[in-house]
Order: sequence, then structure tokens, then C-alpha cells
Amino acid sequence: MQAIQILTTGGPEVLTLTTLPDPAPALGQALIRVEASGVNFIDTYFREGRYPAQLPYTLGQEAAGTVVAVSPYVVPPEAAANVSSIQPGDRVAWCGTPNVGGTYATLALAPIDRLIKIPDGITTVEAAAAILQGMTAHYLLHSTFVPQRGDMVLIHAGAGGTGLLFIQLAKELGLHVITTVSTQAKAAIARTAGADDVIFYTEEDLVSRVKEITNGALLPVVYDSVGKSTFEHSLHCLRPGGTLVLFGGASGPVPPFDLIRLSTLGSLYITRPTLKDYIITRESLVERATRIFNGIADGSLKVRIDHTYPLAEAAEAHRALESRGTTGKLLLLP
Ligand code: NDP
Repeated sequence: MQAIQILTTGGPEVLTLTTLPDPAPALGQALIRVEASGVNFIDTYFREGRYPAQLPYTLGQEAAGTVVAVSPYVVPPEAAANVSSIQPGDRVAWCGTPNVGGTYATLALAPIDRLIKIPDGITTVEAAAAILQGMTAHYLLHSTFVPQRGDMVLIHAGAGGTGLLFIQLAKELGLHVITTVSTQAKAAIARTAGADDVIFYTEEDLVSRVKEITNGALLPVVYDSVGKSTFEHSLHCLRPGGTLVLFGGASGPVPPFDLIRLSTLGSLYITRPTLKDYIITRESLVERATRIFNGIADGSLKVRIDHTYPLAEAAEAHRALESRGTTGKLLLLP
């Protein structure tokens, strides 16, 4: 098999195409021929060493493909639904199992109880493009902070892979969506996804624009995945008692924060959630993935694939993502 590994941390140039022995599934695992692997911002955090990994490390946390082999498996009763029927030939998607092996590869292992069968009406490539970012938008809106119909919310980086799915799910909940982007072209794409107001955060003053849009009322919640460059501004967009959901750091990590400031800024809340904690149970994983896949299958949720790359060009994909040159999803097609 071939895989993209890092032998040392650093820039995109450390991504190395490597030939490895084909893996065999251990108990409870499946071996999957990868048809598409999602490229996500978290992959850049592992590549640069912001998140620790044991080297050499195969990157990638999201994929879809066809099951090649399944090891004998005793299904715990609570995990039985949708698990015991996984067989060679099934089309499946999964994400967030880095301890079992990365997905930037021609073959990958995954725990059987983390696999989602891809329903008819959605391609394998679409499933790989949507499972991680779609479930992220879903848990943030349905579990982390649940806004009320009619609420105004701020979702940063609205033309990104996560952002575009996030805006669409927020509109389905009847929310007024304010989003941020860096270019006119991205603004148009975010508006097509349903954004009501678009702020050019590299040129405009974010807080003044939010005050203007909300008639001074400010916001109950800001969903911030940009981190370092937006964090302070996001706090000032919140009304008393508001919640900052910090779920990423595309511009860099947020520096240490003195908790007393939550009090002086208006009894605010901050949370720093991550997807894996919202899909711990098989039930929650299936519920979120099914919601996303059904939305794509019935046409109510559009997944925008910006660009696909051969496996060997993973470094190009990272460069594109980090240079803010992309709108929607990047995929590797091994
Ligand atoms: P995106 O496709 O959204 O790309 C990132 C976007 O962030 C860019 O397009 C850019 O949009 C914006 N951005 C702002 N400042 C910078 C900067 N300095 N450098 C690069 N980009 C910048 O990526 P993803 O959808 O993969 O991920 C989005 C965020 O969501 C990431 O922070 C990621 O870690 C987080 N995430 C968190 C999860 C969780 O569970 N906590 C799960 C999934 C994703 P623009 O040019 O318009 O500013």
C-alpha cells in the first residue's frame, strides 16, 4: 500500500509518499480500500507538531471506500445496530480514528463500530467530503450550544469546508447567520449557502459590524474556528451571558486566557469542544452521520468539493488549505 507519512514535523514539504506492507485487520477492525480521503485543518496541526503524534505517522482522519476484509468480531449489545452487518464490498465512511491508522493511504484500517454504511443516493466521494465537517457543524449546533429559532449567530470562515455545511444547517434551524470571509468570491459562495450577512474580517471592524447588524444587541453565540486572530473580537461580539464556542485555530492557537475576563466582559461562557467527544456512542455517531448523509441524498444539503488531488500531491492540498485559497472541501483520491 501507499501512504502519506510524516517522518518529522514541519511544513507541507515533510509529507512523504511511502510504500508500506498491506495491513491486516485486528479483532474488531475492517480493512478498507480508500477511494477518497478528506483533507482537514486538523491534519496540518499534526503535520506541524501542534498536536503530538508518534512518528512516523500516517496523516488523515476522514475517508470513504470499500470494505476489503473484516476480522471476526464479537459485537457488544449496545453497539450492535448497523455494525454486525458490515461485509466486504460494502461502501463505508468514517472519521476520527487516528490511533488505528491514518486515511491518507490506499488502504486503511478502522474499527468496525466506527464505520457508517453509505446510503444509496450519495457517492463515496461525497461521503468522504462531508462526514467529518458535517458532523462537526451538527454537534456544534445541536449539542454544544443550541440557539433558538430566530437567533442571530456568528459563524466564522463561512466559505470553508466546515463553514459552508455549518451555514446550511444553521439556516435549517431558522437562525439568522452572520459569517466572515476574506474575499468577495468567498462572500458570494457563503451567501449561496444561506448566509444573511457577510463581514470581511480582514478589512472591516468585526465588532462594529456585528453591533450594526444586531442594532447594538450583540450575539448569544459565536462559533469561532479561526482562533488567534479572531478570539478577542469574538468575545466582544457577545451579549452578557453569551457563549464563545472556540472549535479551531486556523490562524493559530489562542494564547493563555485569564478567566476573570469572562466576568468583566459580561459573565460570558467559553467552551473548546472537539468532535470525538460528541460521537462517543455508536448511537450519536449514527444519528449525526445519517442526518448529514440523508441531507446530501435528498438534496437539502450541498457539499462543495473545491479540489481533488492524487495522493502524491498531499503537500499541494495542505498549501492550498493553509493559504486560504480554498472554498469547501479538499480530497485526496488515492
Ligand atoms: P476551512 O476549509 O474552513 O479552511 C480554513 C479557513 O479559515 C480558510 O479558508 C480561511 O477562510 C480561514 N482562515 C482565517 N485565518 C486564517 C489563517 N491565518 N490561515 C488559514 N486560514 C485562515 O478548513 P476546515 O473546514 O478543515 O476547518 C475549519 C476549522 O474548523 C479549523 O480551525 C478546524 O481545526 C476546525 N474544526 C474543528 C473541529 C472540532 O471538532 N473542534 C472539527 C472540524 C474542524 P477566509 O479566507 O475566508 O478567512
